[in-house]
Amino acid sequence: MSAMGKRIENVIIVGSGPAGYTAALYTARADLDPLVIEGFQWGGLLQQTTDVENYPGYAEGVMGPRMMQDFRAQAERFGTRFITDDATRIELSDGGVHRVWVGDDEYLANAVILAMGAEPKKLGVPGEDELASKGVSYCATCDAAFFRDKPTVVVGGGDTAMEDATFLAKFASDVKIVHRRADFRASAIMLDRARDTENIELVTPYVIDRFEAGDNGSLAKAVLANAEGGDDREIAIDGAFVAIGHRPNSELVEGQVDVDPNGYVLVEGRSTRTKLAGVFAAGDLIDPVYRQAVTAAGSGCASALDAEAYLRDTPPDPEAHWAPDPAKVEAAAEQAAAG
Ligand code: NAP
Repeated sequence: MSAMGKRIENVIIVGSGPAGYTAALYTARADLDPLVIEGFQWGGLLQQTTDVENYPGYAEGVMGPRMMQDFRAQAERFGTRFITDDATRIELSDGGVHRVWVGDDEYLANAVILAMGAEPKKLGVPGEDELASKGVSYCATCDAAFFRDKPTVVVGGGDTAMEDATFLAKFASDVKIVHRRADFRASAIMLDRARDTENIELVTPYVIDRFEAGDNGSLAKAVLANAEGGDDREIAIDGAFVAIGHRPNSELVEGQVDVDPNGYVLVEGRSTRTKLAGVFAAGDLIDPVYRQAVTAAGSGCASALDAEAYLRDTPPDPEAHWAPDPAKVEAAAEQAAAG
């Protein structure tokens, strides 16, 4: 309890993908009674995924949302508590009590694990925002089925673009992958899979100049600019899937912990420790490289172990306003000894 009588949690976990739920599982099993602020759309990006075939242990594969339900249930089994809403403000201290708000509700904790993940990036071209959910999408696995027998584009040249295009090709009449270079950063196997799909065409080197709506207000056209100065091109489409990478959700803590130029939270070496004592970060929020469910889960585990060690080794500062009064602690000990 704080001096104001408010409960101080051992650990608050902000975010709930594989990293957040694994951190919850481990801290719950360490008897730390964690509180997870899991977000209104709990479960992270895997909620927007269909088949996951590369998570070890699921020999037959598993659906992303099913996997997140399993993660959550396992953390809950050991007493994790959840708030199914978004954290709106975070005020971190360096070794003291940290404060996290969900709207007007304030929560206090001696340790915080940041696991807010990353979001898809936007192109920032005219028509993109206006036509979001009217044809422009960031999640092929969520929205592909809306474009049965319709012409579509996928923007990007990485694995996500290839994966989205291959999935979308099962529904759409045709899929044009629009990429700004002739070379693709996607892995060879995924690029080949897209190339070998009959209704997928690679369109390079082009960038999207703008999206335009038709008479019904929905997406009807993409105008493409040639990245090497050649002629522009127009493509009639019903759906556009933007797959150009992700941006970490670090806004709530920027200026408090260190972040890299792309906003990924920086941690010390192979640990999950940020520059602030008692503040740990895990998962896609710290990982511009691997970004896999299994690496996020591993990172969530590491953050729990780091937080546990911190709480074990860091008695509260006796000067802190929330610390128990030493005189009262001594009196209680004497009373207990006296029987
Ligand atoms: P990524 O590898 O960063 O690729 C992003 C792509 O978007 C790049 O081709 C980039 O072009 C292009 N791009 C970026 N900004 C752009 C802009 N403003 N306009 C036009 N194009 C733009 O991102 P990702 O494909 O999301 O993959 C992220 C990570 O997840 C990778 O490590 C990937 O291997 C992994 N992943 C794995 C799987 C799987 O194994 N099943 C599936 C999906 C993703 P340039 O190449 O020119 O920079």
